[in-house]
Amino acid sequence: MHENQISPSEWEIMRVVWTTHPITSKEINDILKEKKEWKLATTKTLIGRLVKKGLLSTEQKGRKYEYSPLVSEKESIDESIDDLLDQMCDTKVGRSVETILEKSVVSKSDLERLEALIEKKKADAPKEVKCTCTPGQCSCVH
Ligand SMILES: [Zn+2]
Repeated sequence: MHENQISPSEWEIMRVVWTTHPITSKEINDILKEKKEWKLATTKTLIGRLVKKGLLSTEQKGRKYEYSPLVSEKESIDESIDDLLDQMCDTKVGRSVETILEKSVVSKSDLERLEALIEKKKADAPKEVKCTCTPGQCSCVH
């Protein structure tokens, strides 16, 4: 598990900052106003947590503070996918990827890329995935 895991509310903030930066807490709050109805104090608390986690940088400009991202969006998405995969038995990953695909709206070109990836992975896929769980944390036979 990554220690700097981003909570759902923090994701809302990060997405604003990835889109526009540097940006002030007031500007972030204005962008999220209709979607979240957070008070400025709430937004500031969330920003403070993200600064503490090392995910946002702060720069003082006169009386204001401006925030910028210290991690990329791609990096953060990849880490949260890693965290999700770490939470399950390796034997359950294939079915979970299937669930993600089933639940997702994906374009024809996305599907073509997936198709190519599946063909490539098929070439050296194991016949069966081995469980590497701690005994007692899944029902695989060890
Ligand atoms: Zn297992």
